[in-house]
Amino acid sequence: MTKERLYLFDTTLRDGAQTSGVDFSLEDKILIAKTLDELGIDYVEGGYPGANPTDTAFFSKRRDYANATFTSFGMTKRAGRSTANDPGLQGVLQGEADAVCLVGKAWDFHVRVALAISNEENLQSIAQSVGAVCESGREALIDCEHFFDGFKANPDYALACARTAFEAGARWVVLCDTNGGTLPHEIAEIVATVRETVPGDHLGIHTHNDTENAVANTFAAVRAGVRQIQGTINGIGERCGNANLISIIATLMLKSYYAERFEIGLTPERLARLTHVSRLLDEILNRAPNRQAAYVGESAFATKAGIHASAIIKNPDTYEHVAPEAVGNERRLLVGDQAGKSNILAALGQLGIDVEKDDPRVARLLAEVKEREAIGYAYEGADASFELLARRLLGDVPKYFSVDSFRVMVEKRHNAKGERVTVSEASVKVFINGGDDGAAPLWSVAEGNGPVNALDQALRTDLGRYQKYIEHVELVDYKVRILTGGTEAVTRVLVENRDSRTRERWFTVGVSPNIVDASFEALLDGINYKLYRDGAPPA
Ligand SMILES: [Zn+2]
Repeated sequence: MTKERLYLFDTTLRDGAQTSGVDFSLEDKILIAKTLDELGIDYVEGGYPGANPTDTAFFSKRRDYANATFTSFGMTKRAGRSTANDPGLQGVLQGEADAVCLVGKAWDFHVRVALAISNEENLQSIAQSVGAVCESGREALIDCEHFFDGFKANPDYALACARTAFEAGARWVVLCDTNGGTLPHEIAEIVATVRETVPGDHLGIHTHNDTENAVANTFAAVRAGVRQIQGTINGIGERCGNANLISIIATLMLKSYYAERFEIGLTPERLARLTHVSRLLDEILNRAPNRQAAYVGESAFATKAGIHASAIIKNPDTYEHVAPEAVGNERRLLVGDQAGKSNILAALGQLGIDVEKDDPRVARLLAEVKEREAIGYAYEGADASFELLARRLLGDVPKYFSVDSFRVMVEKRHNAKGERVTVSEASVKVFINGGDDGAAPLWSVAEGNGPVNALDQALRTDLGRYQKYIEHVELVDYKVRILTGGTEAVTRVLVENRDSRTRERWFTVGVSPNIVDASFEALLDGINYKLYRDGAPPA
């Protein structure tokens, strides 16, 4: 049987950004888009150019991806103006994107109440806006907002909206369950009818999770004939969230009903990155991952000791519906944790480190990682710290310098103008050569807008012979999370550094009961990583 192609459309950076508490920076967007591209997502919707400075900046230059079609979001033009005179639509058309996904009304109730225009005017807006996107040489998609509610209220009009967009040249007509209230059997019935107007290989599905059916609704639509799936990583999104692409991808590839009929842009190797991608997004959002998330949660393949565990050791198929390694997750048992080892080997492989699987250093690294994770470290969002840890254990990383001591002072006082100000000052005492040969310490003092910034400044002031390696390093982002798992709270800090010339970015982690100490550890890893990457000679 030849397989049909299903297309995955990720809207984490647009619809997902509607989640309360979620605010992506430009750097976040760049990283997430690249990650989605590498995973094998077909369309990455990056935001709404012209709507806010971050999205405008994101679309201000061409971003080339290996797999993904870089897509912007916009709205159909307002009635009573031409497409050329609609600032919103023009803002979108000025952005650098390969495709544009426009949202258009498909429910006559909304047309009447929200837009206060005639049904016919709305159809014209759809036709002309889609036409303008096509004329600009881009692929056009249309999200038919409230399509299912619209269809229930006035099927002829909802269908007319879909048909109008398709005939105007939309590559995809996406049926949206915008308020998330539709159930799977309704989705199946309605999609079957819509297919008589727009062919299934031009139809998409966009669902929300307000009845906990977003993923089920997506599959109902696929079975009924749609061939594009919209969703977000981890199902983030407004209210109860969007359809979770993580679960959808795993089901499409691992469940025979779908795997036999469809193919997507992922290979089994890419699928094995799914857990990493899911947790990376949580790290970027500074959220604790959902332990019970399907496929990728920490508990998804956890089994308590007892008859289940011993049966799983004999044959995992006894209790597991899929193999955890397939999605890059691991089996958690109290005994015989072999999966952990294969994960470590895979991570080393990704860094280009080739070691035999029976090399005792692999077991040592695994033990070290587990021990560190138990006290709060997380390496999903801190690749550079993981690489340093691994390479140190393998004996690859020279000792460049050692920090003898540091001190931070935070003072609230009156300045010369009599205003109350808070001043942070840090000093750091560093030995190059480890101080063994009697070399004098390098002692640096700096002020900063906060204790961590002051420490960072002090550390970068004078690293002696290594100074030239860190001249272009800058701290881009800094995230703090208080972990309250054990008896006392622990702080985990994630630091993102960048080389301002090469644009290379790397992420490090520090953990301590003390926030300044945790930050300092992450800062040190950031500098050591740079020295290692640039081949700085040992002290
Ligand atoms: Zn939505």
